Amino acid sequence: MIRFFIHTMGCKVNSCDSCDFYSNLTSYGLEYSDPESADIIIVNSCAVTRESVRKTRQYISRFRKINNNAFIILTGCASILDEFKSNLILNAIVNRDDLISFISNKFDLDRIHEKRITSFEKTRAFIKIEDGCENFCSYCIIPFTRGKIRSKSIKNIDCEAKRFSELGFKELVLTGINLGRYGQGTEFNIIDAIDVVSRYFERIRLSSLEPDTLNLKIIDKISKYNSICPNFHLSLQSGSNKILRMMNRRYDIEYYLKIIDLFRDKFENATFTTDVIIGYPGETEEDFYETINIINKVSFIKVNVFPFSPRPFTVASSLIPVDQKEKNERVKIAMRESDRVSKIEIAKFEGKKFNVLFEYKNKEGLYEGYSENYIRVKYRSSENLCGKIKNVIFSSF
Ligand code: SF4
Repeated sequence: MIRFFIHTMGCKVNSCDSCDFYSNLTSYGLEYSDPESADIIIVNSCAVTRESVRKTRQYISRFRKINNNAFIILTGCASILDEFKSNLILNAIVNRDDLISFISNKFDLDRIHEKRITSFEKTRAFIKIEDGCENFCSYCIIPFTRGKIRSKSIKNIDCEAKRFSELGFKELVLTGINLGRYGQGTEFNIIDAIDVVSRYFERIRLSSLEPDTLNLKIIDKISKYNSICPNFHLSLQSGSNKILRMMNRRYDIEYYLKIIDLFRDKFENATFTTDVIIGYPGETEEDFYETINIINKVSFIKVNVFPFSPRPFTVASSLIPVDQKEKNERVKIAMRESDRVSKIEIAKFEGKKFNVLFEYKNKEGLYEGYSENYIRVKYRSSENLCGKIKNVIFSSF
């Protein structure tokens, strides 16, 4: 029996890719194991920040230390970077699209079952309906690593959603690199994808949306589906219009806030999460505080704060960086402020009832899961709640 282990870094699209690797490899008869006893270790990497590349390096070394015999494969966004080509610990670097055929050839696998798609998580399934991005934001490596927009056909989305629902999953996440661009160049769009999966699922999440892909008409159509969970991840990146222009983002702050208001109008108890980049070249103290101001104004329940780090091939990599000490200081302030705002926002839901999908029992014996609007909930129960949806009253204490 060949055993394998997958280490996934970065975004939900990578999780979705790993889910596909897992399904394919188990359908070939391979067994999933811990890294210590795996014959094949796959590092599905991320290259969004310099920190994620550093972690990729670190994980490769760690896996080699704990398992000297494993065949270690690097795939994902960092796999195109030159620095890994000379990494002697690795046995192979393989493009994600070729990974399964590479392993199949290398290990001479016989496909013993028909391909079945399952998921790592028992409660939540993912379908990647779109890949690639053509926005070329000035700091982002993704258009170089993932290429042009490609969309999964409605028929395939239908098949996958049906199969996931038959497997008993309670919640479905539609993912994509630039999800709102699903169907670009075809007669379909994101609403068609939502329409087809809502036949099978009562809880659907949209992983992340670019503000420029949204408008009143689309938000109105999305809101017609009761199955859409009212938590929206809308990348902000900066609260300064000057920096947004420099980043080649396709919206300004006024438009961003308008989109937030539209969602709030259409979805009761809507919550928002976002990403911000701190210390983009040219960011002054005033620009930075504009970002802090928007964090406060929107009242996000979670902000992923990324210190700017130059990525190869990108426009921003040739710009003069913000002083490192200054950047570190701003990152600390942004994290502190985000935490503070998040606590206040979450406390607003005190006493309200939510349907929570419980995922697992933690070490303290409490069941943990998420409400529709993505608030983490802990709950004590004598009944086994794993994989079940329960209506509970939210209390932040
Ligand atoms: S929208 Fe911008 S940040 Fe997002 S993947 Fe595309 S280029 Fe990168």
